Amino acid sequence: MGGSEHKFRSSTLPIGKLVSVERNFRGSDPAAPRRKENGGLAWTGAVPPQERLRLQSSHQQQRLRQTALQDARPRGRKWRNRHERTDEEDDGSRERGRCGTQRGKDPCVSMHYYQPIWTLVGAGAKTAASSGRSTASVMPSGVKWVKSKVEEINPDTNTVRTDDGTEISYEYLIVALGLQLHYERIKGLPDGFEHPKIGSNYSIQTVEKTWNALQNFKGGNAVFSFPNTPVKCAGAPQKIMYLSDAYLRKLWEIVKQRDLQVNLRQNLIEVRADKQEAVFENLDKPGETTVVEYEMLHVTPPMGPSLAIKGGPLADEVGWLDVDRDTLQHKRYPNVFGIGDCTNLPTAKTGAAVAAQSAILNRTISKTLKKEKPDKKYDGYTSCPLVTSYNTVILAEFDYNGQPLETFPINQAKERRLMYHMKADLMPHLYWHGLLRGLWGGPGPYRKLLHLGMK
Ligand SMILES: Cc1cc2nc3c(=O)[nH]c(=O)nc-3n(C[C@H](O)[C@H](O)[C@H](O)COP(=O)(O)OP(=O)(O)OC[C@H]3O[C@@H](n4cnc5c(N)ncnc54)[C@H](O)[C@@H]3O)c2cc1C
Repeated sequence: MGGSEHKFRSSTLPIGKLVSVERNFRGSDPAAPRRKENGGLAWTGAVPPQERLRLQSSHQQQRLRQTALQDARPRGRKWRNRHERTDEEDDGSRERGRCGTQRGKDPCVSMHYYQPIWTLVGAGAKTAASSGRSTASVMPSGVKWVKSKVEEINPDTNTVRTDDGTEISYEYLIVALGLQLHYERIKGLPDGFEHPKIGSNYSIQTVEKTWNALQNFKGGNAVFSFPNTPVKCAGAPQKIMYLSDAYLRKLWEIVKQRDLQVNLRQNLIEVRADKQEAVFENLDKPGETTVVEYEMLHVTPPMGPSLAIKGGPLADEVGWLDVDRDTLQHKRYPNVFGIGDCTNLPTAKTGAAVAAQSAILNRTISKTLKKEKPDKKYDGYTSCPLVTSYNTVILAEFDYNGQPLETFPINQAKERRLMYHMKADLMPHLYWHGLLRGLWGGPGPYRKLLHLGMK
């Protein structure tokens, strides 16, 4: 891809952007700007993409800019593709349909997924099967599981209507509907996913396509998109870019420097998968489009509020569940509470935030049931383990004000192998055995302990 028309326009927060990695073989485009030659490969100039990190403190951003990507994939582990997984590992996910891509029956009802590990699935370091378990197996005892989709919530009559027309009444309601992926807002998707060279870590149906595209990448543009909407785990599109970069470097073993180009204010509006073309609109000049040929495309879809909430009485003006930022209690309906991506809590939407919120919500509800005032406040804790290579992670942790809320008494802005193991091996256990059982309310108490009560 010619880089000149996609220069950095600003270093402010990116709203809609195209991030690309160019891998042009020598001679393929002799006129490419800012080109460097390197052992048979030609590279365009590098512009670090760290400015996009909403989650990073300025200190961490600064450190991050200084660090170079390490490129060793995990040693001693056998890399496998999806055809090599065992029946035991498969755990029923072979049956999955188009979860998150809005076609057909939603398999997310029968399967529950640990989404944060999809970053590593898209890069081939984990299998998709390892990310899911049957919903039945994680359902707590004593719970009646209604296997239908919520269509509407009516807080004036204290009822929930499901897609089969059933009305369920409640005394107290906790809304945890997540957010809505909108692949269909990009012309050509989701059908384009039927073609090779395109993937998306944001849905179980498309995450393995990222890994396929990465493995089959032989040269040309690798393009990573970021939408102009709120996203869950805003670091995820960047993580797959780093991992792809690490993978490709290892593959060719000749590259000395990172070579990433960031194009801000470019919003993916169309994918012509049959021609391997992605169309971006310049958000500063609506109507002005750029067509980019790709050899690999990773799509981060536009996202928005759950359709069961948006436009209803529980929503704010945008469509998110309108809850109190301290107590997670609904602002107008005191018997309704919210948690996670579906809410308008002014913090980054992550699983780590959900864990911390769960501890507060637990407290708020037990106080409310006793007709007492909620006394514990959510500080906005959220975290993004930023995977920078196949064995390093920067663990970013923040509160509502973007102030670092780091758990460990070490410099977490540094890329660390220990943090990679936490992300890849420890966090999934914490999720399945801690959070889903109500035993993990985030690292708050451990942070206090490790900082001798000072944080
Ligand atoms: C690629 C990727 C990487 C990520 N990396 C990280 C990370 O490193 N760290 C981190 O902390 N977070 C990460 N996240 C974000 C994290 O996964 C989410 O923030 C978290 O799952 C939000 O939890 P939730 O319960 O609010 O929503 P979800 O986990 O999305 O759960 C919502 C549930 O509601 C169900 N549902 C939706 N609509 C309806 C309906 N109408 N009726 C009935 N049920 C419905 C869904 O099926 C789903 O089970 C990542 C996410 C992705 C996709």
